[in-house]
Amino acid sequence: MLTKNPLDYVRPNILALEPYSTARDECKGGDISVWLDANENPFDNGVNRYPDPHHKELKRHVAALKEVKEEQLFLGGAGSDEAIDLTFRMFCRPGIDNAIAITPSYGVYKVSADVNDIELREVQLTDDFQLPVSRILEAADANSKLIWICSPNNPTGNAFAPDDILRLCDEFNGIVVVDEAYVDFSPTGSMKTAIGSHPNLIVLQTFSKAWGMAGLRIGMAIADPRIAELYARVKYPYNINGPTQREIINRIRRTDIAGMVRSIIDDRDMLMCELPKCTCIKKVYPSDANFLLVKVSNAKAVYDYLILNGVIVRNRSRLPGCAECLRLTIGTPEENRRMLTLLQTYLPE
Ligand SMILES: *Cc1c(COP(=O)(O)O)cnc(C)c1O
Repeated sequence: MLTKNPLDYVRPNILALEPYSTARDECKGGDISVWLDANENPFDNGVNRYPDPHHKELKRHVAALKEVKEEQLFLGGAGSDEAIDLTFRMFCRPGIDNAIAITPSYGVYKVSADVNDIELREVQLTDDFQLPVSRILEAADANSKLIWICSPNNPTGNAFAPDDILRLCDEFNGIVVVDEAYVDFSPTGSMKTAIGSHPNLIVLQTFSKAWGMAGLRIGMAIADPRIAELYARVKYPYNINGPTQREIINRIRRTDIAGMVRSIIDDRDMLMCELPKCTCIKKVYPSDANFLLVKVSNAKAVYDYLILNGVIVRNRSRLPGCAECLRLTIGTPEENRRMLTLLQTYLPE
């Protein structure tokens, strides 16, 4: 199998792009102590200066944490949603190219495709939510540039077999993006180690889920250095603000997610065992994530009942293959108990 050059799939205008450059990029070296180049307010208040557009310090910490090279990393300041949008913009010509996604899956791929005027071809998972590798490949034509795979998949909860994803990388003449927002809860592990041998693979991760920093909005793409460099050129120059850069570094230093992840997985397993005993629960799907997809007797009625009792879950009934399904996020042990008790005592009208 010939190794693919991921730059072959990039839009010509993006390949030719001259990125925005700051005076501070251009001066390189020099011992500057008076900063009169960026029209900032000179009076120090902690945020009067523009932040480092390359967020080098933050990148160093994240690269070490994720055990990847800094050159493989792109960091987005609007979460991994930023990486999703930039990926469409880097590879797909509006009105001409298309992308392929699985369904049911994460809704942002479709919104981002629509914003960018890219046709999204959605291929339904098998009845037991497995990856239909051949049907995905058959959906591709000469203008297909991206395949979106979410693993573990939102909202079904299951991780896909790495071999199936690698087969897509081998056989698809384009880029395969694997969204691993829930990887920290999954025994399957990350595909990031396959990027060296499969340069047409991009892995997305985020600090929003297991890392408990959804409010800070930091996500990332891990990719071949040629692709990571393109993200850096296409992004807004100051896409991660200064306080966030500092806050994430501090939190990475002092956070150990192992205990929280353990608690969430333990309660997921407990609910996996207890929920099927509730009369309103028809099926609980296996999960490698921090949520459970459950089929109930009447999704709208159970959803409204939970709301009435102060608990909100996600009604996913309208998605293909998810009729009468609710997605339940695993909360704190107390929150999970509360939800379980409510479901155990639910009486259909
Ligand atoms: C929650 C989630 C994300 C995270 O998005 P952020 O913008 O990083 O908060 C990404 N992908 C999937 C599938 C998700 O469920």
